[in-house]
Amino acid sequence: MPQSPKPGARANPERPSPKTLALIVAAGRGTRAKRHDEDGPKQYRRLDGESVLNRTIRQFTSHPAVDAVCVLIHADDETLYLESVTAHEKLLSPVIGGVTRQESVYNGLRAFLGNQPEHVLIHDGVRPFISHAIISANLEALESTESALTAIAITDTIKDVDESGLIKGTIPRERLWAAQTPQSFAFPAIYKAHELAAFEGRNNFTDDTSLAEWQGLPTTIVAGSRANIKLTMPEDFPDFDTDREQKMTRETRIGNGYDVHAFEEGDAVILCGLPIPHDRKLKGHSDADVALHALTDAVLGAIGDGDIGMHFPPSDPQWKGATSDQFLVHALDRVAALDGRVINLDVTIVCEAPKIGPHREALRASIARITGLDARRISVKATTSERLGFTGRKEGIAALASASIELPALP
Ligand code: MG
Repeated sequence: MPQSPKPGARANPERPSPKTLALIVAAGRGTRAKRHDEDGPKQYRRLDGESVLNRTIRQFTSHPAVDAVCVLIHADDETLYLESVTAHEKLLSPVIGGVTRQESVYNGLRAFLGNQPEHVLIHDGVRPFISHAIISANLEALESTESALTAIAITDTIKDVDESGLIKGTIPRERLWAAQTPQSFAFPAIYKAHELAAFEGRNNFTDDTSLAEWQGLPTTIVAGSRANIKLTMPEDFPDFDTDREQKMTRETRIGNGYDVHAFEEGDAVILCGLPIPHDRKLKGHSDADVALHALTDAVLGAIGDGDIGMHFPPSDPQWKGATSDQFLVHALDRVAALDGRVINLDVTIVCEAPKIGPHREALRASIARITGLDARRISVKATTSERLGFTGRKEGIAALASASIELPALP
């Protein structure tokens, strides 16, 4: 029995003693091309900015009962692997696979001989839609069996066709199942099967449960899923891309806001986060920044998330004297939580005094600073009300605001 990986099977120096190991088989070659595009190996193709393989790895590393994940890669793909796979907790260094799938898995198993896990789940790198539920079902099956196969019942009618293309008959499908992965085993049992096959020169097993069957190991079926597709044919990808594109459709929302604060004794008003010298100040529970209050309501309005008074009740003493930048930042956090993006903010300040014009660019820059937005997405305007009404009588300042926000489209 070999006690160490043969040259070419890279050891994992950081290897812990996992109870449950996932081996992800990604050593196959689509073509010679070593690229991320459609000509490259399918496990390295990108879907929505992430490689197929990284997505597959993520499903295993994020499962709480999987202790370690190791990927079997082609010797030519080390650079591609490093470019395509991000750091994951539990992910060990890759092991170089072999010429066949069987040889690749054998290399992977041998790399863990010195530190045997109890269970090993063997999974195709090109099945990125594996669910946690299927992984859990495999682990549950291993409580009572040494070999489990993820599979789905065949629902198509299956025909037996002769060499001339004529149908000879219909094969009863009641007992037919299509194999998927993961295929899961007690580590010593599947290792022994692989070792014997290698010893006898049997190298034509296309999956691991075939080896288990050959060794007479009873294998339990675990219900798979149609979603757990193996991305094999070129047409598997465009379907997925179209589907994702539909899911990624965005829509634009508009919100408006309005606010008023009265003047009282003071020496400056706070507008857009900046003090503007004046012979009065604005009265309010917070710093009474009427412009930021209107903008906050505009943002909340665009995402249908109530208003500033609901998020920051004036009755709550913690907002007494608060600076209003935190209200706007909070509204923007709500946008970010919805995977949204601000397109632009526009505010109009209505007052006879102080004069806003000379401060307009500074106010715009201040909003840019508070929001982190490019100043070109921000507009600050000012007007008087022709001495009419409360603003015309210099009793206070009003502000009107609009926000345009892009969000994932509702169905
Ligand atoms: Mg207000």
